[in-house]
Amino acid sequence: MVFHLFYRLPIGLRIILPFSLLLGLAFITANWLTLGEIRNFEDWVLKEETSLAREDISYFKEVAQNNLVLARLIKKTSNFNSLPHIPYPHFFRYLPKSSTNPLEWDLGGEEPAARGRVVLEDGRILEIYTPLVALAEHISRRRGVNNGLYKFEKGRLIPLKKIIPSHLLQKQPHDIASILSYNGKLFCSVPLKNNLGETWGFYVREAHIFYFRDLAISLLKRNALPTLLFLFIALGIALVLTRYFVCFPLNNLRKQLLKISQGIGKRLREEVKENVIEAHGNDEISALAHTINQLVKELDELASFRQAIEMDESTIEIYHRLRQVFISKFQLSNFIIFEISNSKNRITPAVIEPPSLAEEICLRDINQNPKLCRVFRSASKATSFHFTETCEYFRHREINYICLPLCVGGKVIGIIHFLLPLQYALKEKQKAIMEKVLAYIQEAAPIIEAKRFAESLKEVSLRDTLTGLYNRRVLEDLIPQVAAGIIRRESNLGIIMFDIDHFKVLNDTYGHSFGDKVLAKIGDIVKFQLRKGDFAIRFGGEEFLLLLIDVKSESTMQVAERLRQHIETSAFVFEGKMATVTVSAGVAEFPKDDTNLWNVINFADVALYQAKKTGRNKVVRFQKRFLVEDQNKRTKNNCNSKSPSS
Ligand code: GH3
Ligand code: MG
Ligand code: MG
Repeated sequence: MVFHLFYRLPIGLRIILPFSLLLGLAFITANWLTLGEIRNFEDWVLKEETSLAREDISYFKEVAQNNLVLARLIKKTSNFNSLPHIPYPHFFRYLPKSSTNPLEWDLGGEEPAARGRVVLEDGRILEIYTPLVALAEHISRRRGVNNGLYKFEKGRLIPLKKIIPSHLLQKQPHDIASILSYNGKLFCSVPLKNNLGETWGFYVREAHIFYFRDLAISLLKRNALPTLLFLFIALGIALVLTRYFVCFPLNNLRKQLLKISQGIGKRLREEVKENVIEAHGNDEISALAHTINQLVKELDELASFRQAIEMDESTIEIYHRLRQVFISKFQLSNFIIFEISNSKNRITPAVIEPPSLAEEICLRDINQNPKLCRVFRSASKATSFHFTETCEYFRHREINYICLPLCVGGKVIGIIHFLLPLQYALKEKQKAIMEKVLAYIQEAAPIIEAKRFAESLKEVSLRDTLTGLYNRRVLEDLIPQVAAGIIRRESNLGIIMFDIDHFKVLNDTYGHSFGDKVLAKIGDIVKFQLRKGDFAIRFGGEEFLLLLIDVKSESTMQVAERLRQHIETSAFVFEGKMATVTVSAGVAEFPKDDTNLWNVINFADVALYQAKKTGRNKVVRFQKRFLVEDQNKRTKNNCNSKSPSS
């Protein structure tokens, strides 16, 4: 739930919020820890300083005690000179040889603090005491501390040796030691008690430990606000930076992608220029933009490729476009594009690159029976990279191969066979290339299939079903194409027009279906007699037109004669009946007879007419004079046909 809400926030806030939460927590924890430490430290300071102060006091008491003993001794002897040796080296060493009255005599001692005061009257000791202040000073010097001494007089605290104002001490509890601060320094006050346990004064000692509590608290107070302020400024800057460097580029990316998505269907690059998304930096967002640019570029190229092949006229053009892509885009220069015939009984190479590549790269058996090919069978790729023996019909062990199927709806319509050097390693980069190659193949496959279907439809519409030869419709496309080829190659086209003799009679004698079978058989004979590149066309009912491509001059006559003889000597046996069939043929040649192919076809027809006229079952070469005869005949016919009406 929280995550769901969190993900609904803009990305800038998503970064800033946890960041500020953590900072705030750190700030609070640091303060809390510091305050705890200060409190612990205070207790420790009190313990330490009190014990030091108590040491001072016991020393203080000891000195006082010694001086008391000394005073008593002096009192007893009343004569300084007769004083015995007293083992208190610190306080008493010698007394003055002479003294005046009344005079205060120092008790001596090397240290002034250890000095007592003796008041003499007429050489007699009146009073002897050790001033407290002197003792305090002595302790201060000996122990190297600043101290003070305070004494209650009529309920008020009087400083004997002042170190801090007395009113500060007055506020302190009178029976326990405590720590107090003054002028940024720490002081420890210890109550001084008499034998009855009553507090008669305070001994105050400056703490030898630097007292930082107040400093720390004041620092915290002073710094908390600026720290918070700094935090807010830092957060503000972070927010601005996040917006500028993260949110804006991401938004830009989103807008550009939106533009691209709107541009889909048109050509992408018409919508957006070379780099669809601007990417200047070197950060993750720029990397993402680069990747998207790359992706768009690839998609664009693929779309352009698709557009181009859709416009292509024939499947062979598509195969050549694929060839171009493999060579120029993927630097693959050895491959064969195989086409599988619609009847699925033949694999024929449509493109061989380079043309010098052995056509029979796979064993011949495969060409005759595609089912032997594992790519055809499985509709999935086959490669020698994992197992060299993957395909038993590939016989070249010195090269690697990858065979990719051209698939449409699970049906394999072609196979692309890439040949790669043995040292070619199929690493990630090469695998990615092959994936892209496959994308192009997959893009092309349905279009190839559609073109093949259209081609086969066209083929059907141009074929005569009875004889299997082309019908007359083919001529419209064929004549300009063939004529151009012959002219370009400066070659020769042989034209034979032949017609079955007395076919009407044959029909009448043996029946129409017998006649059909005769026509079909003549179609077979023609196919057998002609070369692969020649064209055989059923021109009319029992009239045939043959176009012999690149034929030697005058050898058309021989072909026509051979055909005539073949038909004459063939036995036409159907439905238990046998007939002999003869044909008459007219021969002309392009461009020898005329530079207009249609005219030359007409010449062949004229020659055929001559053959019929001069006895049938013969071949007649066209001669110019036939035209005159033909013209005369037509004129005559016209006159005859006009005369009844006139
Ligand atoms: P000629 O030697 O002068 O050519 O005499 P012909 O009888 O062959 O010539 P004609 O043009 O008078 O007759 C052609 C006949 O061919 C007429 C037609 O019935 C027949 N025919 C045309 N097409 C077909 C066909 O598809 N099947 C069959 N069985 N006969 C056809
Ligand atoms: Mg005929
Ligand atoms: Mg005829």
